[in-house]
Amino acid sequence: HFNKASYLMSAPTLALCPPETGVEVCFAGRSNAGKSSAINTLTNNGKLARTSKTPGRTQMINFFTLGNPDQRLVDLPGYGYAKVPLAMKIEWEKHLSQYLQERKSLAGMVLMMDVRHPLQEFDTTMINWAVSAEMPVHILLTKADKLKKGPAQTMLLNVRKHLKEAKADDLVSVQLFSSLKRTGLPELNVVLNRWFLG
Ligand code: GDP
Repeated sequence: HFNKASYLMSAPTLALCPPETGVEVCFAGRSNAGKSSAINTLTNNGKLARTSKTPGRTQMINFFTLGNPDQRLVDLPGYGYAKVPLAMKIEWEKHLSQYLQERKSLAGMVLMMDVRHPLQEFDTTMINWAVSAEMPVHILLTKADKLKKGPAQTMLLNVRKHLKEAKADDLVSVQLFSSLKRTGLPELNVVLNRWFLG
């Protein structure tokens, strides 16, 4: 049913988010990780989330409904670019950790990481916040088409190993994904359906 997604609203801060009813799943990632492309691929809507070659610009939290306003996808602003002022980053981090800790409707987080350089500082921060909030995380190693099969598989296993060592593997899962080749979609659908159906 993800192809029923339509734009609901944008909020500049968490205080202005829609009511915490129903279930929502958020999408996070550093700028340029392939988050917008993944949302567009999942929803089969090339225009839903804005893909951009000038990363770090969108600073709004964008809400999409899945036909039913009580089922939402939430596109969290990505950053990781020097262009974003530090004070803004710190302010945003405060909001983000609060969102992950307190948002009652939030069932899980999909975290996008470029398969070629996963587990950057932003990523591990997000994982740590989610784990401490007992929030499930599903990692998409995006742009998997940029690597050959063997190296992509090695990256996947390395990330799994890291999660196991961090004792995060009961809450955090990971898969390869490519928006370009549309690979990894069934696997992602299984996780999202589980979260939405509770
Ligand atoms: P966002 O900033 O995380 O929303 O990233 P975007 O979705 O805008 O993607 C950033 C860049 O990566 C764009 O140039 C996309 O075309 C490219 N990209 C995204 N997904 C893929 C993918 O699966 N394969 C390849 N080769 N490029 C991708």
